[in-house]
Amino acid sequence: MSEREVAYALVGGGLAGLNCARWLREGGADGTVLLIGREPDLPYDRSLCSKSYLRGETPREETLLRDAAWFAEQQVEALVRVSATALDLQTRTLTLSTGDRVRFGKALLATGANVRRLNVAGSGLDGIHYLRTLGNSDSIRDDAGGKRVVLIGGSYLGCEVAASLTELGSICTIVMQEDVTLSRGFGESAGRFFQSRLAEHGITVHGGDELERFEGSGGRVTRVVTAGGLELDADAVVVGAGAVPDLTLARAAGLQVGPGGGVVVDQCLQTPADGVYAAGDIAEYRSVVHDGDAIRIEHWDVAFSQGRTVARNMLGEDAPHDVVPYFFSDLSDWASLEYVGPARKWDREVVRGSIEDGEFCILYLNGGRLVAALSVGRGEDLAQARRLIAEGGVLPAPADELASADLSA
Ligand SMILES: Cc1cc2nc3c(=O)[nH]c(=O)nc-3n(C[C@H](O)[C@H](O)[C@H](O)COP(=O)(O)OP(=O)(O)OC[C@H]3O[C@@H](n4cnc5c(N)ncnc54)[C@H](O)[C@@H]3O)c2cc1C
Repeated sequence: MSEREVAYALVGGGLAGLNCARWLREGGADGTVLLIGREPDLPYDRSLCSKSYLRGETPREETLLRDAAWFAEQQVEALVRVSATALDLQTRTLTLSTGDRVRFGKALLATGANVRRLNVAGSGLDGIHYLRTLGNSDSIRDDAGGKRVVLIGGSYLGCEVAASLTELGSICTIVMQEDVTLSRGFGESAGRFFQSRLAEHGITVHGGDELERFEGSGGRVTRVVTAGGLELDADAVVVGAGAVPDLTLARAAGLQVGPGGGVVVDQCLQTPADGVYAAGDIAEYRSVVHDGDAIRIEHWDVAFSQGRTVARNMLGEDAPHDVVPYFFSDLSDWASLEYVGPARKWDREVVRGSIEDGEFCILYLNGGRLVAALSVGRGEDLAQARRLIAEGGVLPAPADELASADLSA
């Protein structure tokens, strides 16, 4: 057990933590940077766990956001398999699972999220998987590849995993509460497009239904029974029922948790404790592009960009986090979506291009303002939409003309 002092303590070896370390160094920080992560790997690209890593196309070492040589070169000390177990805001000290105590000048909490577990009859059977880590992805590939798999949940995670497993020869069926895949975030027009791509590749989708229980034999899952009365044979199950921000450390330290279920931070991503920041999946911030409303967003690019904003502010800037959130998702190489938003509500959708032809951009309007956009193969439209949202969402043309208007005007 030791006591030590560091300039910057970054808790959470994920994307937000890593990117904060990177931008601290790029911004000229010369004090000690300590990144504390409880997973066995150096920070890696979690988004690959449902995509190319699951399909076995990307080797484990290529998922790393930075390799060991970078950490050595940049003098960023990265601990793996180590948790921060307590945070004392008075003494500005972290206690680690090793028993060591670390006094810090500035700290970032970027503890990410854990999967939301379902508690129904049969939940403890073998063969029921959740996905958050590389290790989970390995288990799913080994256990579900080439088999009959039922996916619970029709959000992007369930759809991506269904696509990847189908590429591995699995027969996939999705069960979900919503009528159309991906419709909760992106609406039914976009959702139907992605659902049709899944159907074209042999994936069966049961919408408007939900899991009732799992049945098994010899301790292993064999069937999924739904509230609607379906009985689906399954050799394996993957549950994609959302994620829950990991607030264990923040709560115990007495930091405020907001209505969105995240650590409350100001526009500069600082908590009420001076020099203590939060970023990524756990941060609930007053977004400048959401009318100043508090929002918590679980997107790759949000963790990425917030890590950078925190670094800038740790280095003495007073930089509000004003990045328009960006999201991407791939259904294998069948379809890729990019999205800026998120819109919590919208009253009109305008389609540019053609959904039937698989090249389109949907503009989401609310009260006559642009609040979000989704693109499949129309990156320029998305870039313009992102700029317009950042500028307040004023439409460049009357809504009726937006389908063909010049968005750069
Ligand atoms: C399978 C999958 C696919 C995804 N695909 C996409 C996608 O296509 N597009 C997209 O926009 N987003 C995607 N996401 C979401 C995106 O990956 C996350 O929003 C992003 O990784 C969040 O980064 P983070 O740094 O906040 O948290 P995380 O990546 O969760 O990292 C937090 C880390 O902190 C560690 N930790 C927690 N508590 C402690 C502690 N007390 N001490 C030490 N370490 C701790 C955790 O173990 C974890 O390693 C995906 C997520 C998953 C799970």
